[in-house]
Amino acid sequence: MTAQLNARGDVAVVVPAAGAGVRLGPGAPKALRLLDGEPLLVHAVRRTAAAPSVRMIVVAAPPADVEAVHALLSPVAPVVVVAGGAERQDSVAAALAVVPDDIDIVLVHDAARCLAPADLFERVAAAVRAGADAVIPALPVVDTIKEVATDGRVLGTVDRSVLRAVQTPQGFRAPVLRAAHAAAADLHTDDAGAVEKLGRPVICVPGSDFALKVTRPLDLALATHLLTLET
Ligand code: C5P
Repeated sequence: MTAQLNARGDVAVVVPAAGAGVRLGPGAPKALRLLDGEPLLVHAVRRTAAAPSVRMIVVAAPPADVEAVHALLSPVAPVVVVAGGAERQDSVAAALAVVPDDIDIVLVHDAARCLAPADLFERVAAAVRAGADAVIPALPVVDTIKEVATDGRVLGTVDRSVLRAVQTPQGFRAPVLRAAHAAAADLHTDDAGAVEKLGRPVICVPGSDFALKVTRPLDLALATHLLTLET
């Protein structure tokens, strides 16, 4: 593998970007939607590459777009691009398969959280380096959360002091992530969930407002403003 960033880094970052809706060109949703004239994936990879601990970035792209995504990202940072799979976890597994065994720490990062700053990658990696099996960045929940029946009737109010909104990058000791993926029988929406099912501990570190998930038009507007605030 020649696509290497900092040779002394101990972290590989896996970026699943193979959602069926991902297409190059105008109107592309999600990972290739434009923010300030550049695809979200480009923003995400640029900030990932700025984290000093990162030795390698592996992007899972739609099989038909592997070469195009490589061409898109090559001017931004050295990356390995692999063909993704049918589900997000298949894409993560395909990317994980090319991470060399001598890299101890793997972070999984959603391209839609394209402004996640380099210091967030460092914070997550540092917690894994310090001994945690799995680390997730999380923020307190600010809204009051209700449990609601399908007919709209409120069933109860959840104690929000015990709730956290979880972001990416999520960090793992590499063998733990590999074991979680090997054991995962059901679909999971985040990789830490697969580690939880193994019965291994997952810990939180403070998240970042800049790591918001760009999903709705309002998020694009927010992200455009956040670009002006980056230091
Ligand atoms: O659709 P969702 O928000 O869960 O997708 C999260 C990320 O997983 C996106 O970046 C998407 O491109 C990626 N994905 C993937 N392979 C799939 C489905 C989704 O890499 N088969």
